Amino acid sequence: MSIPSRSGLFGAAAASAHGHGMTSQRARDRLVATLRTEGIKDPRVLDVIRTTPRHLFIDEALASRAYENTALPIGLDQTISQPWVVARMTELLIENGVPRRVLEIGTGSGYQAAVLANLVETVYTVERIEELLRKARRLFRSMKIENIRSRHDDGNIGWPAEAPFDAIVLTAAGESVPRALNEQLADGGVLVAPLGPPGAQRLVRISREGDEWRHEDLEPVSFVPLLGGIG
Ligand code: SAH
Repeated sequence: MSIPSRSGLFGAAAASAHGHGMTSQRARDRLVATLRTEGIKDPRVLDVIRTTPRHLFIDEALASRAYENTALPIGLDQTISQPWVVARMTELLIENGVPRRVLEIGTGSGYQAAVLANLVETVYTVERIEELLRKARRLFRSMKIENIRSRHDDGNIGWPAEAPFDAIVLTAAGESVPRALNEQLADGGVLVAPLGPPGAQRLVRISREGDEWRHEDLEPVSFVPLLGGIG
């Protein structure tokens, strides 16, 4: 695993933010304690949340709130997901074995992708709003994260050239999982997604066994909508 080198860099980022109150290591430790209280159990996930500098993924004006357990605006009507939801989805993705190649739909700030990049071999992430994608790419570069590949496209079609994926995660909510994504999931793979209309979304995990897709209905969540086309 390449965790040591990356967490070293995160360490450096943490050190430069040291003394900045709410972006400090203490604020992150507090967030991890909250996540644990709220049911996140996997130590690998809690560790990555502890070492990932979430404040770098949001506007400086909001940095003081980076380690609160809330979603925050990232511009263009989009949000960085709530840390609990990022932790929960990550936990669900790796629970039955760490996937090698993961497809994420909805790069947004890049935070979920960065969290995953610490745990899996390669993250493929697709975002429909070019401006958000450009920002996220800059961040990945400056953080020296080298195992994220990204693409400006409509995530409803997935990433056919790189399929199949051992795991797929949607970070925007649709009424159902786009057919292309079900098909790009490898046999034995797992897909985690928020599904349903605003106000009534549920987190769902789908496991593929051959030509069967087994659905597990998990908990209520709140995500921005999965849209069509590119922005
Ligand atoms: N994973 C992100 C969450 C961002 S919010 C993070 O950690 O910050 C969801 C994102 O999904 C938004 O950026 C939105 O533009 C994007 N999105 C919505 N519909 C999409 C689609 N069809 N294809 C790709 N991205 C989409």
